[in-house]
Amino acid sequence: MKEKIHSKFLSQFGEGGVFYASAGRINLIGEHTDYNGGYVFPGAIDKGIMAEIKPNGTEKVRLYSLDYDASVIFGLEEADKPAEAWARYIFGVCRETIKRGGKVAGFDAVFAGDVPLGAGLSSSAALESCFAFAINDLNHNGLDLFELARIGQSTEHNYCGVKCGIMDQFASCFGKKGQLIRLNCKTLEHQYFPFNPEGYKLVLLDTCVKHELASSAYNYRRQSCERAAAAIKQNHPEVEFLSDSKRVWLDEVRDKITEEDFIRAEYVIGEVQRVLDVCDALERGDYETVGEMMYQTHFGLSRLYEVSCPELDFLAKLARKMEVTGSRVMGGGFGGCTINLVKDELYEGFVRKAAEEFKAEFGHELKVYDVVISDGARKL
Ligand code: ADP
Ligand code: MG
Repeated sequence: MKEKIHSKFLSQFGEGGVFYASAGRINLIGEHTDYNGGYVFPGAIDKGIMAEIKPNGTEKVRLYSLDYDASVIFGLEEADKPAEAWARYIFGVCRETIKRGGKVAGFDAVFAGDVPLGAGLSSSAALESCFAFAINDLNHNGLDLFELARIGQSTEHNYCGVKCGIMDQFASCFGKKGQLIRLNCKTLEHQYFPFNPEGYKLVLLDTCVKHELASSAYNYRRQSCERAAAAIKQNHPEVEFLSDSKRVWLDEVRDKITEEDFIRAEYVIGEVQRVLDVCDALERGDYETVGEMMYQTHFGLSRLYEVSCPELDFLAKLARKMEVTGSRVMGGGFGGCTINLVKDELYEGFVRKAAEEFKAEFGHELKVYDVVISDGARKL
């Protein structure tokens, strides 16, 4: 990728610049916990964005996207917002840097990526954090990684119409090779845990479906959680978010809330605990327990939180049958990928059989993405 970018840079802009890169992300466990003030547990992956960048001495940004084979030029005022969706991510990063008092000198850039788009691996966060990091470095702005993550998140909010949380940009900025990051979504405290599953592979199976239910169901789930938390708070005023509650406190209000709200809350409180259990297991290098927790999360998302779908359940069930160590739906649900922790010796057979049986059952192909936990935003 680097050679292709560089040769394009030379033909497009003349003399070469500096290389920066960033990454997409996975979330090992901790799903639907973010808006409940709980933990998520993401890591950056070996798929990302790479860019060659050079200040051009003007007030303009000139971009070339290798993947889209397209150029865009824009100025740095709010009114200069480009029409192309992909360029808005970079324009947004420039604007959000300026809003934070950072300097953004005009620059030329050629970039490309290998994060599959819209597959739940956050190619958009990879793009934002690559440019946020590069602009900060080239202009000596001195913003910290946390501020760079915020710049990416605000870009999504203010320039791309996506009201996302901080996890994706956080993972993409803070990611380190062989380490996952446990992020407390309430306090934003974070801690690294080793993830070096020797003898195992991490592989995502993309169902390539997105069921319509997703956004309305998301709002219903949120409301259930808020109602359950409010009921618990009556007995335990310290409960601000559902994740603050103990399981027994939920049991105390069982007859005060609906059965539906109860099982949603049961999932969330269980999931917060599973993140902690997975962190303990990783410190012992116990990947079998990690895998078991992944299956429990899948069960919870499917049966209690009810955000799975036939395609995802099919893949998780097949994984279990083939004695794959761990498998679960990753992301909000109703489609997208399963994330699988697979022993090396089972890997080929599992991926082949999953692809065959999935096609036979649903009539279309799935996609396979191998991932390794890797470094996030950086200068090359
Ligand atoms: P994801 O879940 O992958 O983040 P999004 O819809 O949030 O999906 O972001 C995908 C968008 O990000 C693309 O439509 C494109 O505008 C931009 N993008 C991501 N990767 C690239 C790339 N390699 N080149 C150009 N634009 C990209
Ligand atoms: Mg995105």
